[in-house]
Amino acid sequence: MIKKIAVLGSTGSIGTQTLDLCARHPEKYRVTALTARSSREKLFEQVRRFRPEMAGLTEGITPEEIPEDLRFCRWVSGKEALRAAAVETEADQVLVAIVGIAGLQSVMDALEAGRQVLLANKEALVTGGHLVMELARRKGKPILPVDSEHSAIFQCLQAAGPNRPERILLTASGGPFRTWDAAAIRTATREQALKHPNWSMGAKITVDSASMFNKGLEIMEARWLFDLPEDRITVVVHPESIVHSAIVFCDGAVLAQLGVPDMRVPIGYAMAYPERMTTGVPAPDLFDLGSLTFEKPDEEKFPALRLAREALRAGGAACTVLNGANEEAVSLFLRGEIPFGGITERVEKALDRLAGLTANSLEEIFEADRLARIEAAKG
Ligand code: NAD
Ligand code: MG
Repeated sequence: MIKKIAVLGSTGSIGTQTLDLCARHPEKYRVTALTARSSREKLFEQVRRFRPEMAGLTEGITPEEIPEDLRFCRWVSGKEALRAAAVETEADQVLVAIVGIAGLQSVMDALEAGRQVLLANKEALVTGGHLVMELARRKGKPILPVDSEHSAIFQCLQAAGPNRPERILLTASGGPFRTWDAAAIRTATREQALKHPNWSMGAKITVDSASMFNKGLEIMEARWLFDLPEDRITVVVHPESIVHSAIVFCDGAVLAQLGVPDMRVPIGYAMAYPERMTTGVPAPDLFDLGSLTFEKPDEEKFPALRLAREALRAGGAACTVLNGANEEAVSLFLRGEIPFGGITERVEKALDRLAGLTANSLEEIFEADRLARIEAAKG
């Protein structure tokens, strides 16, 4: 049976790797919708190749700007493009691979329309995890994780039967600053932060990996996906990025998933679930690797982990505030307006100043996000 897939954020790192898998299996996947924010040439090329029913640019596009040979599909301009892609084509699966809290509304729209959500956009769970999980349950469409660590845990859970894991071991590469001292990290440059040792990803998540806010967001993501409190989610620094995460059972058994660091494996698992597909990715060569190493994270050098756990324990809109302030601070850093150390400082300040906000609805969440960005921009 052919699976029909809509790809939100198709020109990004996850989006292009997803299309690579679609191209490898044309008999199994048909692309119904493609969206991007501003990379129009790249999107044109993708539309030419995959011939979706619908395409959209959230930054906007006028009818005259659409190349003549691409007018066979319906073009949607502006923010409406995301909603159209999530609900208005005949997709079975909606892959949400846009960046930031912008993904939350798309996830809710896709679920509401009864679609299977393949989730790369962790920020949707960080900010609206309770609403997303509740709607997914109500619709009988569990979220399929694309984030490599969460995919690893999800894959391990397939072997858990009726047994719940006692704990999750969430692995982290440690990022480019793992061995740096605190003072050097505070003044790290954009180029240094964008140089991830193992993964090639979009700019936002690469900076988050350097600050370890990415792992903080992933603790929150795991909390919602697997319904475990934060004190049962242990972060393990594993610089080789071969063990993608693990689960621990009451009898002392640990199940882990291993693979080379290539996102096509978790993306392909979500697309083909419960089956598997060929991805072009080789299995790791254990003889070649020889040894794997593990360390405790340093929460003094990387306060992001502590802040994330505090936000989870505080509840309400604290995780949304952390996320919104971080998104704003990362874009200030990428524009060269604040030093690397300023990211954590601004997030911590925003969390202090905006304590006690609630997150009972999408409106409250978007309002908390707006306030957090204002605080973070103030510094
Ligand atoms: P990216 O920057 O490479 O690509 C993002 C895509 O989304 C692009 O097509 C862009 O045009 C579009 N986009 C960005 N912001 C948008 C907005 N506000 N509205 C509409 N479209 C927008 O990002 P990426 O690295 O592919 O990451 C996408 C998501 O997947 C993020 O949430 C990230 O945390 C998550 N993720 C990525 C990786 C990875 O390896 N890249 C791994 C795990 C999780
Ligand atoms: Mg990850």
